Amino acid sequence: MSNPWLTIIGGGLAGLSLCDELLSHFRKLQQPLPGRIVIVERREHCGDNQTYSFFSKRPPIALPYSKFSQWSFSQQTTSQVLLKKGFRFNYYRLRGVDVFQQLLTRIGQHPQVELQLGVDAESYPVTSEQVVDTRPCDAGQMRVKQSFVGVEVELPYYIDPNTVRLMTNMRMLDGCFTFDYVIPLSPRKALIEVTQFAVEPASLDTLSGYLQQTLHALGVTKPPSRHERGILPMGLQCQYADRLGSQQIRSATGYGYLETKAWARRSAQAIMYQRPVDYVAQSAHQRWFDERLLRVIEQQPEQLPRVFMQIASRLSADNFARFMSQPTVLTLLKVIAAAPKRTFLRTLHD
Ligand SMILES: Cc1cc2nc3c(=O)[nH]c(=O)nc-3n(C[C@H](O)[C@H](O)[C@H](O)COP(=O)(O)OP(=O)(O)OC[C@H]3O[C@@H](n4cnc5c(N)ncnc54)[C@H](O)[C@@H]3O)c2cc1C
Repeated sequence: MSNPWLTIIGGGLAGLSLCDELLSHFRKLQQPLPGRIVIVERREHCGDNQTYSFFSKRPPIALPYSKFSQWSFSQQTTSQVLLKKGFRFNYYRLRGVDVFQQLLTRIGQHPQVELQLGVDAESYPVTSEQVVDTRPCDAGQMRVKQSFVGVEVELPYYIDPNTVRLMTNMRMLDGCFTFDYVIPLSPRKALIEVTQFAVEPASLDTLSGYLQQTLHALGVTKPPSRHERGILPMGLQCQYADRLGSQQIRSATGYGYLETKAWARRSAQAIMYQRPVDYVAQSAHQRWFDERLLRVIEQQPEQLPRVFMQIASRLSADNFARFMSQPTVLTLLKVIAAAPKRTFLRTLHD
C-alpha cells in the first residue's frame, strides 16, 4: 500500500475535527483526497462523555444543543447574585457523545481514512510526508491549572432552565480560587461542578470533597448519573512549534471548543494550499491580556472573587461573553476598565 498523504496524531476533538474539515473541503471541490489520512489514537476508542459549553452568537450546526440566555455570578462572602442576560450571545452546551458521534460517522464512512486505535504515536512508524500532531501538553507544561470535578444529578426542586450559574459561590479554599458551576440539563437535572484555578493541580479527591459540600448545600440526595473531571491548562510554559499541545485552549479561561474548531478549519486550509500548519491559536492582544489574568492567579489569587465579580457587574452580558470567547481589543480595554485598578496595575510589574 502507498504511504499515507497525512498522519494525524491524536483522535481527540482537534484531530477528528481537522480530518472532518479536510474531507469537507475536498467534497466541496468534488475531488478525491490526494491519499490516505491515518489517525493514530492511543486509546481504544475515540470520543468521550464530557460536555462542551461555550458562549457564541450562533447555535452549533447539525448538533443537538442546549441554549442559555442568562448567566449568574455570586461570591460566598456577600449575598449578592448577579444575573446577566445576553442579547447577541447565548451560552451553549453540547454533549461530547453527540460531537464525537457526528465526527466519527462522517470520518468513518470515508474509504480513504484509517483510524489506528490503541496505538501510541511513540511506537508508530510515520511514513507520510505530512504530520499534524495534536497531542496535548503534559501537566508540567501548564503554568496554571484549572482543575474541576462534576456530576450530573437530579435536584429535589425546579431550576430555571434558561440560566447557567457560571461562577457561583466564588471563594478561597486552601488558598485557591474556587467556584461552583451549575448548568441545567432539564428543569430538575443539572451538571454541577467545583472548579479551582491554581498554580498546582488540585487533588481531585479534595475537590470531590468540596463538591459533596456543594451538593449538600443544594439539597442533592440522589446518586449522580454521570461524572466529569479534568485538569486543563491555563497558560503554557512553552509554545510547541510543531505540535498543537493544547495551545488552542484559552489561557485565561480554559474554554477550548470553538477555538479547537477554528484551528481545525484554518489548519485544513493550510494543508490544502500547502502552507505550514500554525499551532499558536491566539492573537497577540489576547495573549497579553491573558498573561495579566494568569499573574493574578499566581500572585494575588485572593483578589479573584472580587475581580470576576467586578468585571461581570460592570460589563454588559454580551461583553462578558465576548471576553470569555474571542475578545477584540475593544472588549479587552473594557475589561481592563472594569477590573479593580490596583490588582490590574500590579500585574504590569514583573
Ligand atoms: C472534562 C473536560 C471538560 C471540558 N469542558 C469544556 C467546555 O465545557 N468548553 C470548552 O470550550 N472546552 C472544554 N474542555 C476543553 C476541551 O477538551 C478542549 O478544548 C478540547 O477537547 C481539546 O481537544 P484536543 O483534541 O486538543 O485534545 P484531547 O481531546 O485531549 O485529544 C488529544 C488526543 O490525543 C491522544 N493522545 C495523547 N497522547 C498520544 C500518543 N502518544 N499517541 C497517540 N495518541 C495520543 C489522546 O488520547 C487524545 O484522544 C474540557 C475538557 C475536559 C477534559
